[in-house]
Amino acid sequence: MTQTGLFWFTNDLRLHDQTALWQLANRVDRLICVYCIDPEWFKPNGLNSRAMGQQRYRFLLESLADLQTALAELGQQLLVLEQSPVEAISQVIERHQIRHIGRSAHPGIYEQRQWQSLQRRFPTLRFLQTDTFTLFHQEDLPFRVDELPKSFSQFRRKVDALQVPAAQKALTYLPPPPEMAFTAIPIQQKTLNPLFKGGEAAALTQLTNYFSSDAASQYKQTRNALDGWLNSTRFSPWLANGCLSVRHIHSRLRQYERQQGANESTEWIFVELLWREYFQWYAIKHGYRLFTPAGITQKPVRCCFYPERYQRWCHGNTPYPLVNALMHELNDTGYMSNRGRQIVASAFIHELRMDWRYGAAYFEQQLIDYDMASNWGNWQYIAGVGADPRGGRHFNLHKQTQEYDPEGSFIRTWQGGEGDQPLDSLDAADWPIMPPPQRP
Ligand SMILES: Cc1cc2nc3c(=O)[nH]c(=O)nc-3n(C[C@H](O)[C@H](O)[C@H](O)COP(=O)(O)OP(=O)(O)OC[C@H]3O[C@@H](n4cnc5c(N)ncnc54)[C@H](O)[C@@H]3O)c2cc1C
Repeated sequence: MTQTGLFWFTNDLRLHDQTALWQLANRVDRLICVYCIDPEWFKPNGLNSRAMGQQRYRFLLESLADLQTALAELGQQLLVLEQSPVEAISQVIERHQIRHIGRSAHPGIYEQRQWQSLQRRFPTLRFLQTDTFTLFHQEDLPFRVDELPKSFSQFRRKVDALQVPAAQKALTYLPPPPEMAFTAIPIQQKTLNPLFKGGEAAALTQLTNYFSSDAASQYKQTRNALDGWLNSTRFSPWLANGCLSVRHIHSRLRQYERQQGANESTEWIFVELLWREYFQWYAIKHGYRLFTPAGITQKPVRCCFYPERYQRWCHGNTPYPLVNALMHELNDTGYMSNRGRQIVASAFIHELRMDWRYGAAYFEQQLIDYDMASNWGNWQYIAGVGADPRGGRHFNLHKQTQEYDPEGSFIRTWQGGEGDQPLDSLDAADWPIMPPPQRP
């Protein structure tokens, strides 16, 4: 009897190092490849944003189109469903008598619940999940995830010498799909700044270009720059969407070290990949606490929301030229350097005195490299409700400007202004005079 399988693509939009798909492909004769565009991503999320902004969506659609092309070369097709994932996948399972379903493991609590919900609905179906988003497999970690070290340094010490599994080669064979209708991938009409192009092909080009240069040997000195294409790897958008495998980056990095020599900079790239890794297991351990005001701590926190300050920060219209320039860059390109993110997040929390979750949610909407674990984990860190043993970070804006934009060229390029904008358009003198209380 024909065995039909369903592979659910999520944050793994690639064919290289695709262990989950490879394992499923070996068990079935017919295969349906599915991606779900969840309508929830476009609805207001309760924190003044939507999960999927225009730049993020552009990058995603490009990545899906690229995946579709790669699948077509293997005689496959991508079924893109614009529907809530559990409903959409349940319908495909029922209609095509699916026997096996596979996907890459996802650190997100909602994504895990979706998987569990399918497991409850279809108890006889064979479920297959593999870690492809992380460097390590969960079972290879030298601790249980609920015993993840409290700080990154402790984590690093424990995993530093752990063997990273080899990246698998690109798939060269997939079982064909059954007879069925496929719909076209949606096309975004609006023209947007295409600084990064979505998809596995563009990701592999960036990987090759980066390691063909000598940028990796200077990474530690350049990584904090606010701009400059080779000052950091720029892998994050492709990593976040899974167009690039973190294990593949790791093996390319080690190859570079063998050929060009290892130094502090090449090692630091690995350290940054470990930061990413730490936040993935941190998200799995802490679940919904990633999104709560007090984070993983129990301490009382400020939950203020000032609509005007929020708008000024989002649109880059604050009294701080560097913050404005960085926010303009984010809104235009969907990307911002790590130092830039630290600066604007610190300003949001410590200068504007706002509830950090609104800033994190705006990043979720705008960043083409939005990665749930890295984003919310880093925001918690700066807000002092996360993994920072020092209890949060407050960056001095004047010092940061002097150090990272001493000539003001970044501020000029991104029109950060002169710093003559007020923080609030009302000051104490403008508050309405309260009428005296009326005697009954
Ligand atoms: C407030 C805030 C929010 C962030 N949100 C995200 C996000 O949504 N998605 C995301 O991928 N990164 C996020 N980061 C981490 C970091 O800023 C980006 O990964 C980095 O700027 C991407 O550029 P790059 O690929 O050139 O990084 P590189 O400096 O070249 O680093 C190589 C890779 O290491 C990882 N990495 C580097 N720094 C960090 C870090 N601090 N935390 C986790 N991983 C890291 C990334 O995967 C990155 O691609 C955030 C940082 C802050 C401070």
